[in-house]
Amino acid sequence: MRRVYLDHSATTPVDPEVAAIMMTYYTEKYGNPSSVHGFGRETKQALEQARNQVAELIGAASREITFTSGGTEADNLAILGTAEALRKKGKHIITSCIEHHAVLETCEYLEKNGFDLTVIPVDEEGIISVDEVRKAIRPDTILITVMHANNEVGSIQPIAEIGKLAKEHGIVFHVDAVQSLGKIPINVEEMNVDLLTVSGHKIYGPKGVGALYVRKGVRIVPLIHGGGQERKRRSGTENMPGIIGFGKACELAGQRMADDAKKQIKLRDKLMNGIVERIEYVKVNGPVGEKRLPNNVNVSIRYVEGESLLLSLDMLGIAASSGSACTSGSLDPSHVLLGMGLIHEIAHGSLRFSLGRQNTEEEIDYVLEQLPKIVERLRMMSPLYDQVIHSKQS
Ligand SMILES: *Cc1c(COP(=O)(O)O)cnc(C)c1O
Repeated sequence: MRRVYLDHSATTPVDPEVAAIMMTYYTEKYGNPSSVHGFGRETKQALEQARNQVAELIGAASREITFTSGGTEADNLAILGTAEALRKKGKHIITSCIEHHAVLETCEYLEKNGFDLTVIPVDEEGIISVDEVRKAIRPDTILITVMHANNEVGSIQPIAEIGKLAKEHGIVFHVDAVQSLGKIPINVEEMNVDLLTVSGHKIYGPKGVGALYVRKGVRIVPLIHGGGQERKRRSGTENMPGIIGFGKACELAGQRMADDAKKQIKLRDKLMNGIVERIEYVKVNGPVGEKRLPNNVNVSIRYVEGESLLLSLDMLGIAASSGSACTSGSLDPSHVLLGMGLIHEIAHGSLRFSLGRQNTEEEIDYVLEQLPKIVERLRMMSPLYDQVIHSKQS
């Protein structure tokens, strides 16, 4: 059967070049980077090179990079680590209603434990207003945590402006950049970011590795205590193959970003416009043009359920998503789409296609050929759609 993978925001394949270099760190260069002998020194040097590769992609110094077990841990380290470090200074945290669960749930955990939380709404395109953030700031605000690009609708947030605001008020600013890394340029200096989360497996690197950028001088309390690795910020023997792979993936992403974006924007627009042209009662979710990630398509198709669409697509070998991978399996509609003002019924019929390096125009044609047929078949079974057709005719 034909297989078309359009779920790159959930995860990506490991680039063959990345996989090849990782392999040597399993079988040949297996030293512990904390060991003093030659085996250890060899891996220590490679560890620092990988740190440099990650730093370079985001405009940071390599000593500001702390490797973690992924984006989720980096988000937790940023938020819990700041809350712990600054709890005597204040107890107010600001976030947005479209954050990834790794941020939202962590903030809510703090709220249950004595912190105050303000959750900023977004507009109908899924973009946070800088003014709303400004209005939410209090004398006891210690942290603002906002994502760079949203994983469900691809909306890109005004990070530099929020960063400026945070700096003016002396508030620590954390950004989850897992979805934007390698897709659009990131510069922690220009964006005035203090803490920035990145992850390997969304950029053709391995799963189970990520990093937190911590600006020089910003204090966070570690979550994991032990041997004092990663400048005491994250103890535990380093996941060397993972870290090496992540570093390589960052290097490749830096080289390929412009080309990837150009190619994917073309496919994205072809898919998005094609769906709108071929299917009635469709709504595009998220912004159009420059405020949207190059690889994201998100549509609500009325009078059908997202889950049924996904299953039908899957039977034809097409992998898409109903929102975020983390919430699939639950029947609640996406908190992001609800936050953008969609009613439950419409949010339920939503599909996310996220493109990647290997997708081709022909694959998009295949989706555009199959999807309208699926929608038509599902709508035939929908009593709601039946009513619409009849009210149109009468
Ligand atoms: C995938 C993702 C995460 C979690 O990263 P993991 O490495 O899978 O733990 C966090 N934030 C965003 C926006 C993501 O898309």
